[in-house]
Amino acid sequence: MVPPAVARSKAQLPILKVRPGAEVECVLLGAGPIWYGVHWLNGRQHLCCAWERAACPLCAVSLGRVVGMTLVVCRVQGADRAFLLELSPLSFSSFEERVRFAMLGDADAVRCVVSRPRARGYLRIVPVEAASAGEHLLDADRRLLGGWAVLYGLPLPMLTDSFEEFQVRVSSVLEARARLLVGSMG
Ligand SMILES: [Zn+2]
Repeated sequence: MVPPAVARSKAQLPILKVRPGAEVECVLLGAGPIWYGVHWLNGRQHLCCAWERAACPLCAVSLGRVVGMTLVVCRVQGADRAFLLELSPLSFSSFEERVRFAMLGDADAVRCVVSRPRARGYLRIVPVEAASAGEHLLDADRRLLGGWAVLYGLPLPMLTDSFEEFQVRVSSVLEARARLLVGSMG
């Protein structure tokens, strides 16, 4: 059995940062995106836990917004590396439209150019061509979920967990965290 600390560091994935004005080439693997709510509080992003029956304590004190997370592969110093890419619903629907228009809808993986035209603006993801993602395509959804869980300090998902099942599993952890945070704000 793999010790939990090793498993966590293996599941951990860096976030792909796209600076305003820069262009980044990457291969989108078609994993997810997984969609979830976040709150911006005390200078940090916190997960909204309104997905279960229970209400999210943070929703009472701040507006939430929906963000998505997907998995991409970038060429870094001659090697392919997987990254998490955070995107907005608007970024993704524009991307999907461009994919349809470019007739790349059947591709397993799509090479894209990602840019952020304006500071604080949403990401522009332009498909270029169908790509081969090789071994990175294997288990892309599970790697996405594992990377997401580590990013938000959650336990690792089980092998068979869907995103929805995992959300239910961690909802009490998140709700307790949210209550602590609201309590600390007085
Ligand atoms: Zn909330």
